[in-house]
Amino acid sequence: MLMELKEQLLSGSAEEYLSKLFLKIERSSLNGFTSLARESALQQAREFDKNPGKGRLAGVPIAIKECISTKGIETNCSSNILRGYIPPYDAHVIQQLKAEGAIIMGKTNMDEFAMGSSTETSCFGPTRNPWDHDRVPGGSSGGSAAVVAGGEAPCALGSDTGGSVRCPASFCGIVGLKPTYGLVSRFGLIAYANSLEQIGPLTRTVEDTALLMEVIAGHDERDTTSAEGKKSYLPIKEGVGGLKIGIPREYFGEGVSKEVERAVWDAINTLEGLGATWKEVSLPHTKNALAAYYVIAMSEASSNLARFDGLRYGLRPGEDKDWHTTFSDIRAKGFGPETKRRILLGTYALSAGYYGRYYLKALKVRTLIKEDFLRAFKDVDLLAGPTMPIPAFRIGERINDPLSLYLADVFTVPINLAGVPAISVPCGFAGHLPVGLQLIGRHFDEATILQAAHTFEKATPFHERMPEVV
Ligand code: GLN
Repeated sequence: MLMELKEQLLSGSAEEYLSKLFLKIERSSLNGFTSLARESALQQAREFDKNPGKGRLAGVPIAIKECISTKGIETNCSSNILRGYIPPYDAHVIQQLKAEGAIIMGKTNMDEFAMGSSTETSCFGPTRNPWDHDRVPGGSSGGSAAVVAGGEAPCALGSDTGGSVRCPASFCGIVGLKPTYGLVSRFGLIAYANSLEQIGPLTRTVEDTALLMEVIAGHDERDTTSAEGKKSYLPIKEGVGGLKIGIPREYFGEGVSKEVERAVWDAINTLEGLGATWKEVSLPHTKNALAAYYVIAMSEASSNLARFDGLRYGLRPGEDKDWHTTFSDIRAKGFGPETKRRILLGTYALSAGYYGRYYLKALKVRTLIKEDFLRAFKDVDLLAGPTMPIPAFRIGERINDPLSLYLADVFTVPINLAGVPAISVPCGFAGHLPVGLQLIGRHFDEATILQAAHTFEKATPFHERMPEVV
């Protein structure tokens, strides 16, 4: 789709295309964008129309999640504590996008500090699912997914700490990739749980995801966990003949909706029909993944979010009093309830006396989960299963019951704990709601999951359907 868009922009006008998008966004009720970079984007589009340049994304508008730093454009993680913060620098991925001529069109809504699976914890209110406005778009990159699915942006970036790219991709019927840990620089990504997260693309097709990956992946010395080397993903190899797919036993059964299960099995059968083989495998520690993930993520969050004290940037409400009062006033007013819950639980898990019982234990479970994947990948080339156990739920349905929200992450968080890559591709519908197929690969083997996803996409019509309610 981006390839065709580039042709269209070259023969037509980027300014006109972008103006139409902005008009659509103004009239939209999705609440996907938190702010638009209207002036700078239109200016860049006019420059492209005069002199298109050679960039691989020249003239292509892209929407960016609120937690990715954009020079001169407010970046607030959809949190009151960071309202008004304008970064003086670009994240690495933004520099890469700009170097290839992409146009940053605006910032997208998210769960506050990326904590959630529904985009309901944002200080800007919930984003709506373009397929059904009463339902959540998934989260935490729900704004990015909704604007791509709703035709308000041709592509977007999100971040994925425990599923935040794949979950909204699945709920909104688009493609989303969580890269191998270390493949994409986190420089300029405001940290939630830095040992788990990666920035990833949200697009309409697998090829578009591969194109964005070629632009954003690669070494960056400003991120100490950044891997060496630059990978290429295009052209994507076609066909799945000879590929061995593992089907994790633990990813089916209790808690998985029948409609999701049916759509995912149909997809596996389609891949088999295209020449792949499959066998059942076991990831026995899946049952411990949620507990380990939430202990680790909250512990890291409590430490990462300690820096938000309103002293250097962000919220500074009222009169300054003594240091303790000022500090706690700012944090009490600035953070929403989910963020506070996680800071409290994380601080508890890291406290002397409980550190060994919770945090250290979670780290040990993390190793066991990683070993589950390494063992499975001895026999198979990739794994397939549902991205989410259920289709998009209603706004308000789960927000007051955090545990039920956390449970929905059961198939996405193990991937972050292990650091392996995974992609979600549309594989069918549960009634009027999209279902996502998750393909999981070996460390740094994005190529194989892109290949399987692309071949599947070519053989099926699901990515072509657009939501009608927008
Ligand atoms: N839903 C998970 C959480 O709340 C994952 C969020 C994410 O990937 N940023 O932590």
